[in-house]
Amino acid sequence: MSQIVSQNPMDITIEIVDEYIGRIPEKTLRLARDYIYEDRCIRKMRMPGRLIAELRGYHDSYIPHFELSKDLWQGGCTCTRPAPCAHIGALLLSFREHPEQFVFPPYAFAMALQNSWNVLFEATTGKNILRLAPEIAPWWMLPRNIAHTKSEPMALDNLERIIHQPQMLVDLHPSWLDDPAIINALRGWKNPQLIRKPGLLFWVKLWAYNPFLPLDHIFSNFPGEVEALTPVILAELWNPGVIPFSRDRQWQRVQRLLSLLELIPSVPIVFLWDQFAAMDPLFLGRTHALIRQGQMDQAIHYIEQHWPEDEKEQHMVRQALINWLPESKKLPYLIADCLETGSLPELQELKKHLTPEAYEDLTNLFNRRWASAYES
Ligand SMILES: [Zn+2]
Repeated sequence: MSQIVSQNPMDITIEIVDEYIGRIPEKTLRLARDYIYEDRCIRKMRMPGRLIAELRGYHDSYIPHFELSKDLWQGGCTCTRPAPCAHIGALLLSFREHPEQFVFPPYAFAMALQNSWNVLFEATTGKNILRLAPEIAPWWMLPRNIAHTKSEPMALDNLERIIHQPQMLVDLHPSWLDDPAIINALRGWKNPQLIRKPGLLFWVKLWAYNPFLPLDHIFSNFPGEVEALTPVILAELWNPGVIPFSRDRQWQRVQRLLSLLELIPSVPIVFLWDQFAAMDPLFLGRTHALIRQGQMDQAIHYIEQHWPEDEKEQHMVRQALINWLPESKKLPYLIADCLETGSLPELQELKKHLTPEAYEDLTNLFNRRWASAYES
């Protein structure tokens, strides 16, 4: 799995911040720069369309935030000075210099934030909640390429620690999952006692918050218990919480939660997927769900009914079916893909599945169509 959090249309960019900084009076910006030089901007967090941090002032701490809604900028701060104050200036300058230091809100912070986003800024409540974010983001919350360039074994030692404390795992930045050593350590983690200890509900919540994690195997430690949590999983699907998710984080979240429900035979899985149809434009999510429910023929019938017209999309669908279907069912898709794309490896693969006569026929067909492409 290779998932970097993508740019969201509502993402705050350097350009947007620059434009806003340009509107702040120079005198205010000078004060803001002093805050930056003295490293007074801490607990820096970003989410689609929003920035928030704590600003250690000279006498007190403040919480400046910045919000982007459509083409409108909104900033606010817990100080009582007229906006934009030097704290908002410092927040934006800090983002401008080191956007990578702004992390996705930690799980603990999100859990404490029970009500709507606005409540956060009501003086003391907000301040207390913000304390649940670390002053300086630790390596696992930061993107892998900019986290302190420690040696890999060192990072793995730390990962061991994280795995044994799943509440830390939930805040792992998805870019760490590009590291084969780390993804293998996670996938290979099998300690039934430790896995069962926090309970199934905890794992469901954790996966819903950090759906990039490869946790499929965790749930097999709770045989038969998922069904009882169906109402909770459904509630999670329709109530994404108060922290806004990027589009691909949200997509992953829906897919993960639905994948839990797929294992329950009584769940009308295609109907549930239909509620999130925009996330499944090729109908592959629904097809896979049917396959996982053991409804093989229905799955094939379903995808044939929703076969795409675009050649590239057809290739994607065939590849998915080749991966998912049992040997006996995938042959037509393998043949079609081989002939449509001119793939020699697929032609060779087919030799195993066909009688010599059938294979010869196929090779003739293949050559008639593709031979010229391989002559030079
Ligand atoms: Zn302020």
